[in-house]
Amino acid sequence: MKKTDIILGYRCNNNCIFCSTAHFPKTQVAKEKIKQQILESKKNKADEICFTGGEPTIRKDIIEIVSFAGRQNFKQIYIDSNGRLFYYKKFCEKIINAGATSFLIPFYAADRETFKLITGSEHAYEQTLEGIKNLINLNQKVDVNIVLVKQNITQLSKIVNLLLNYKVKNILFWGCCPINNPKFNFKKIIPNPKDAAYYLNKTLDSYEQKISHISINGIPPCKIKKYDKYFVWKYTYMSVLLGHNWKIDDLEKQKLDNSIKGKICSSCKRVETCPGIWKEYFKYYHEEEFELMPY
Ligand code: SF4
Repeated sequence: MKKTDIILGYRCNNNCIFCSTAHFPKTQVAKEKIKQQILESKKNKADEICFTGGEPTIRKDIIEIVSFAGRQNFKQIYIDSNGRLFYYKKFCEKIINAGATSFLIPFYAADRETFKLITGSEHAYEQTLEGIKNLINLNQKVDVNIVLVKQNITQLSKIVNLLLNYKVKNILFWGCCPINNPKFNFKKIIPNPKDAAYYLNKTLDSYEQKISHISINGIPPCKIKKYDKYFVWKYTYMSVLLGHNWKIDDLEKQKLDNSIKGKICSSCKRVETCPGIWKEYFKYYHEEEFELMPY
């Protein structure tokens, strides 16, 4: 299976505290360039395509772009979105009719104030929640990812409970990846993976059976041993990322290149099937503070 992610530009209607592209120029990629990338992806035998950003849905020509991809017969067309525009049911119907088949939407907090703190946006909480609800009511495949940051880990169970009440079936738990953004305020935002794992274990103790599909990324598997079967170690497909004038041929390799193992990992039975921890974490924490527990 081969998937291509196409960046449509870096403009966004949120301003998330951990955004790895927040410092990039707020330009949009030209529509003709995107169409060309769609055709090239098809020629290179991509089975699936994903539109990402920035926020892809705020483009005025998004429906035209998705329709164009829809005519190329990809098996799946993903929209990687903050979900706010799906608050408008008519927009949901338009993008689905154009050919979108799957949606990846982040959800950050169980209450409006924390959501606003994380996204920097006044109405993001209600709009995202309503957007998720609209897509689910329209029988769409919706994966919701929760990025684990200091601001939300203590309310993780509440977030999951809220999502389940909105009939979300697939939940992804992501350790925050702090790469790329030189202005990133690591200490204020990124929890020690040990703490993120503590709240994740607690949440899954209560909700594991109620979530249809769980996946976990960016937390060392040894910190979630009871739930390590949900840990995503490698993509099951080849993933290419296309920007305006650059290309990453193997997104998985790039992710692995951004991770390293601790000294203690050499004694771990899982050392070959664990990416370790994001490199950046070692700048701010001593390895001992992660309390890794080799298999
Ligand atoms: S290799 Fe290291 S980080 Fe990975 S599971 Fe083993 S001890 Fe944990």
